[in-house]
Amino acid sequence: MKISRKKFIHSSLIAGSALGLNACVWPAKPEKNKPSGSIVNQPIVLSTWRFGIEANAEAWKILSNGGSALDAVEAGVKVPEADPKERSVGYGGRPDREGIVSLDACIMDHLGNIGSVVCLENIKHAISVARAVMEKTPHVMLAGKGAQQFALEQGFKLENLLVEESKKEWEEWLKKNEYKPIANIENHDTIGMLALDQFGNLSGACTTSGMAFKMRGRVGDSPIIGAGLYIDNEVGGATATGHGEEVIRIAGSSLVVELMRQGYSPENACKEAVSRVVNLMNRRNKNIKDIQVGFIALNKAGEYGSYCVQNGFNYALKTSKEEVLIDAPFHTKIS
Ligand code: ASP
Repeated sequence: MKISRKKFIHSSLIAGSALGLNACVWPAKPEKNKPSGSIVNQPIVLSTWRFGIEANAEAWKILSNGGSALDAVEAGVKVPEADPKERSVGYGGRPDREGIVSLDACIMDHLGNIGSVVCLENIKHAISVARAVMEKTPHVMLAGKGAQQFALEQGFKLENLLVEESKKEWEEWLKKNEYKPIANIENHDTIGMLALDQFGNLSGACTTSGMAFKMRGRVGDSPIIGAGLYIDNEVGGATATGHGEEVIRIAGSSLVVELMRQGYSPENACKEAVSRVVNLMNRRNKNIKDIQVGFIALNKAGEYGSYCVQNGFNYALKTSKEEVLIDAPFHTKIS
């Protein structure tokens, strides 16, 4: 993510709701408070980080023309996947410590269909391969060489995904050879997108090149259904970004959806999931300053919300009425 977190358009919806430290209560009682926002009986799309603005715009073309949430989320996240300037997703993504760009992605629709690829190399649109896994195989997840072989059989083309800037950064990184993901700074990030279409159906997509300079073969939360993304068309959907190891540890997106099922608002469901991340960090004597995890959530009624571990995470929202980048409320303020 860009160090400058300049807002595209500031939403007043939740501005000022980030009050810094919150008591970490586990388990918390369901708080059926007001959601961060809602758009009833109309399409809506939200996605993580600033690059969500352009991605939402693409998804919106489909949603506003009566298309499905599934088509919308795939088309939306393909925008940063194809953009070499977005250095944490798809083409242009930062490589692992061996200099290889390896992509993780997953997709889930309103019927519970799922597809995922992990450690996919040299194929730009990991999300479309994930969708092909969902629609054209008896499986839900393909990895590495097998995922690539399947993609080629489906007509995807091999491409070099390592752009010059990423190569230079990697060569620089090799001098110290120190794995140190930095919270909110652009050496990781994921686009996770949630959409509700005019038929009232929800879908989600999540795609990333993962943590920069990760170990070869490392898989984060993003391609793992239940961790990086989860959709239940009776309840809502959630997706995650940030340090994938921490999201996997709490089965994050599935947890957010289950909390919404219990009556939590989208924001409070995300908040509770964040408090569990923090709780497990504390139990393990880890410093939460070193990590970022952010969730966004959308329920069946079109209510949405978000929460993150530390300030700096934002998400993009598009409805028929607005197009905004919203600063997520956070657990801890880190200056
Ligand atoms: N969740 C991604 C991963 O762990 C990275 C990110 O979203 O920042 O690979």
